[in-house]
Amino acid sequence: MKYLKQFITPISGLPEGEHWFDFEIRKEFFECFENSDILDANIVLKLQLIKRSTMLELEFSFAGTVNVECDRCISPVDIPIELTEKIIAKFGNDAYDEAAEVLVIPFNEPEFDVSKLVYELIFLGLPMKRVHNEGECLEGIEDRISSTEDNSDDEIDPRWAQLKNL
Ligand SMILES: [Zn+2]
Repeated sequence: MKYLKQFITPISGLPEGEHWFDFEIRKEFFECFENSDILDANIVLKLQLIKRSTMLELEFSFAGTVNVECDRCISPVDIPIELTEKIIAKFGNDAYDEAAEVLVIPFNEPEFDVSKLVYELIFLGLPMKRVHNEGECLEGIEDRISSTEDNSDDEIDPRWAQLKNL
């Protein structure tokens, strides 16, 4: 997809040493991936890329918010994301690929697409439970939940109902 093109970083043309890339991650990014729970996003990503003769060191630093459905009231909620993650990618060949526990980039690969890594890391940075702060959930929904609870309290235990008939 066109939007993801910006995440293709040059490699072979880069001199060895430190390089920086900045990205803004918005809703469009997540629309390029299927089955995304992300409704919207406002994330600044700084990527530090250190090129060495045998490997790349990639440090991703995310800061911002993602907008998702609240697990409690299903209305949208902004969840902050602060994550720094370092990934090593070795230069190698395909035979080496399977066994390696680190990412392997083929020798002489002109560029490296980091979009999938970025996508996975954002999910890594999200908490399991995505909810509003206490008391900030959409009221209507909470009322509905509590009124359902009330109704169940009103139901008379059938054993008591029988006693009433005596
Ligand atoms: Zn909520």
